[in-house]
Amino acid sequence: MKEIYLDNNATTKVDEDVFEEMRPYFCELYGNPSSMHFFGGQVQSKVTEARVRVAELLGAEPEEIIFTACGTESDNAAIRSALEVFPERRHIITSRVEHPAVLTQCRNLTQKGYRVTEIGVDGAGRLDMEELKAAVDTDTAIVSLMWANNETGVIFPVEEAAAITKSKGALFHSDAVQAIGKIPINMAASSIDMLSLSGHKLHAPKGIGALYLRRGTPFRPFMVGGHQEKSRRAGTENAAAIIALGKACQLAGQYMEVENTVVKAMRDRLQESLMAAIPHARINGGGAELLPNTTSIAFEFVEGEAILLLLSELGICASSGSACTSGSLEPSHVLRAMGVPFTCAHGSIRFSLSRYTTDAEIDTVIREMPPIIARLRQMSPFGREFLKGEK
Ligand SMILES: *Cc1c(COP(=O)(O)O)cnc(C)c1O
Repeated sequence: MKEIYLDNNATTKVDEDVFEEMRPYFCELYGNPSSMHFFGGQVQSKVTEARVRVAELLGAEPEEIIFTACGTESDNAAIRSALEVFPERRHIITSRVEHPAVLTQCRNLTQKGYRVTEIGVDGAGRLDMEELKAAVDTDTAIVSLMWANNETGVIFPVEEAAAITKSKGALFHSDAVQAIGKIPINMAASSIDMLSLSGHKLHAPKGIGALYLRRGTPFRPFMVGGHQEKSRRAGTENAAAIIALGKACQLAGQYMEVENTVVKAMRDRLQESLMAAIPHARINGGGAELLPNTTSIAFEFVEGEAILLLLSELGICASSGSACTSGSLEPSHVLRAMGVPFTCAHGSIRFSLSRYTTDAEIDTVIREMPPIIARLRQMSPFGREFLKGEK
């Protein structure tokens, strides 16, 4: 069975050109980029090229890019650094809808005596900017807010948030893992200090990430040891993966237009068709500015996991809005923060597209979803009761 992969916010296919670019750096060109000899030097120059390519996608300088092992490491490194840079500041601001890579760390820090403010969102997932303005003070070390939400695709006004943050002398970090490659980003015209990205969300392999660190921003490394990455991240470079990330960023720049026209049109068609065909459905984040590839739809009176299983039997890969990974059937913290009613949050499904998605795949999903939802609602006593009297 050929999969229909609509779970690109969880991870993406490695682009074949990206794979070809990294392939020689395992068995042939395996030198250590820090070595003095020509053999290491060959790798070093490709790592340098990769740094330039990543910087170009972000509108940054190559020296502002630090390679890390993943988006999670970049998020952790940014927040830890800020707290070490400003030991006298004991306040951290983030939002209630962050990825666990930020949220778990912030919540752990409350145990170490830090004050953590989690800014709320409205029903459409939009950040409460007034709450942010009121929360930033001279005790704030760092404000960390995601550029775009992985579950809903809602885009935050991070530039405005950075300006508010800087007025109180705190550092601003953004988890831009979902935004990079999907919407244009220009750090040269930004006041954001630090930015996280991850390879496997943009068609590079898993296990490679980067942290953008604005020139002149004070920084304390998370990983210490050797002098790699100008002593900002010790550990022998994952050269092959770095080279892959560079290529993936170059391609992401080239495909940005496709993402915002072709991919967006498919997403819109999927969203509109499902909303028209299925009663008692609502778009999570409808009314907010969204990433071009993501739609999260809540279907009332059904379990997301049941939808996923039936879709999976047809080869369709999507994701639900429940934190089933944690073993609970709690709706996700993102949907709860948005105040999505319990009956809706349970039946939320996220479809996330990519440049590999085809119109034929979207047709299949549009065809298969309505009978799946109808069948599940028939099986649910609650759904049957509520929908009694409707056609
Ligand atoms: C995937 C993701 C991460 C984590 O990146 P990894 O490379 O998997 O550690 C962080 N933030 C967001 C928004 C993500 O979607």
